[in-house]
Amino acid sequence: MSNAGCRQPARRGKGPEACDADIQVDDRCPDTIEITIFVAALCRARPGWRRVPPLGTKPDTRTVTAMTSIRSIKGFKDILPGEAALWQSIEKTATEVLGAFGFREIRLPILEKTELFARSIGEATDIVEKEMYTFTDRSGDLLTLRPEATAAVVRAYLQHKIYAQDPVQKYYTIGPMFRRERPQKGRYRQFYQINAEIFGVGSPYADVQLIVMLVDLLERLGVTDAQPHVNSLGCPACRPDFRRALLDFLAAREERLCADCLRRRETNPLRILDCKVPGCREATRDAPALSRFLCAECRSHFDILQGALDALGIAYLIDNRLVRGLDYYSRTTFEIQTSALGAQSAVAGGGRYDGLMKTLGGPDIPATGFAIGFDRLAEIVAAGKGTEIPGPLVFIAALGAEAQARAFPWLAALNRSGIWADMLFEDKSLKSQMKRAGKLGARKVLIIGENELAANTGQLRDMTTREQVPVSLDRAVEELRRHLGADG
Ligand code: ATP
Ligand code: MG
Repeated sequence: MSNAGCRQPARRGKGPEACDADIQVDDRCPDTIEITIFVAALCRARPGWRRVPPLGTKPDTRTVTAMTSIRSIKGFKDILPGEAALWQSIEKTATEVLGAFGFREIRLPILEKTELFARSIGEATDIVEKEMYTFTDRSGDLLTLRPEATAAVVRAYLQHKIYAQDPVQKYYTIGPMFRRERPQKGRYRQFYQINAEIFGVGSPYADVQLIVMLVDLLERLGVTDAQPHVNSLGCPACRPDFRRALLDFLAAREERLCADCLRRRETNPLRILDCKVPGCREATRDAPALSRFLCAECRSHFDILQGALDALGIAYLIDNRLVRGLDYYSRTTFEIQTSALGAQSAVAGGGRYDGLMKTLGGPDIPATGFAIGFDRLAEIVAAGKGTEIPGPLVFIAALGAEAQARAFPWLAALNRSGIWADMLFEDKSLKSQMKRAGKLGARKVLIIGENELAANTGQLRDMTTREQVPVSLDRAVEELRRHLGADG
């Protein structure tokens, strides 16, 4: 379809307020494509765009002209089948490992009230200050696409009063998170996490169990250089002492800090230790270590954690800078780093958040958990073994209408019995059908043309050895199952 006659060029949105669809309203275009746009209501009126009704009005179902092809939103990526197969296999391994450690799946909405994240993650974090996708819905509620999962898992646990039956729960959830960060390799605006949470256990052994589980999962996935970093953030009793010491230390280094860190000094000074700007890292090189300020309980908690890791032979690094971005952490904090990721070195992060339940209006129940960056994990695993796209077990090359009509029920029967079989629904030459089978990566090809129909015997070709064996067409499905090793 041509766009000749459309006088106004398509424009891409810029900035956070821009519309994400490359669609322009133009009634004068002769080649008008009917597209129902719903998201357009989120766009602000721009020059060259028809005025969009304010939020709260009914969905917009106008006729618009697609001027250019529509691309995905910046920082949002597609996971195409080859990659998705790898994601599936990682997910399978992860759910096996999580299951063996006693975690059960919980599935939650991706949209929550903004207040949930503002209260839990903390107002003075990058996430809440500038990274959340927040909007007012038609009834005026302020909603946010979840930037992380923990707050929502806690919300569900409290909302359903699960703690009243049994406060000790182990959950996992896998799904997308949304943060409006600067997109780069390993950093996306929609990214995926595998989250695991243990509720109702204050013991450091629960933290160690999470770390062991991460190490085990990464080992099974062939990630060889994963290194756990651990630290203790203390608790509300001892952290203020550290905070004061840190502020004293920073007072003499003000001019060396970046603008963000100067701001963090007022709101969340611990996070200055986490700043990635080289100048800030240099300036805070000799900053006081949090571990020196721990109270007796926090000290003992951290000692038991280290002792348990030692007993398991898990090598780890005590990382005084590991403070994590979210407000709700207390005591144990950890990250799994790998050199395979370049600048974005953390493949997973987590820790204890004993105060969160209370912050969210629930009872005082301890909790600990982690989040694995699925995208980053998939990148590491793919780099290690490459993405392998599996192919069908058998491709049926049926030549001519009669062969097609005969073979189609076999295809359906094989598919319904759980065997990946495929065929072309067009009358193509043997050569092009074999080409198609090769392209799909089929293991075997069943050939049936006129001769095979006449002899009531097809030829099953092994695509690797090129050997052919006869297959009786009267018992095609049974014979195929036998040859494909799918019997029994
Ligand atoms: P980072 O320091 O890399 O920004 P973070 O402290 O913000 O990480 P968490 O909120 O603890 O990360 O999330 C846990 C994991 O999720 C991270 O270790 C990382 O692997 C992954 N992750 C976080 N943000 C993104 C993103 N924007 N894109 C892809 N993965 C991400
Ligand atoms: Mg971050």
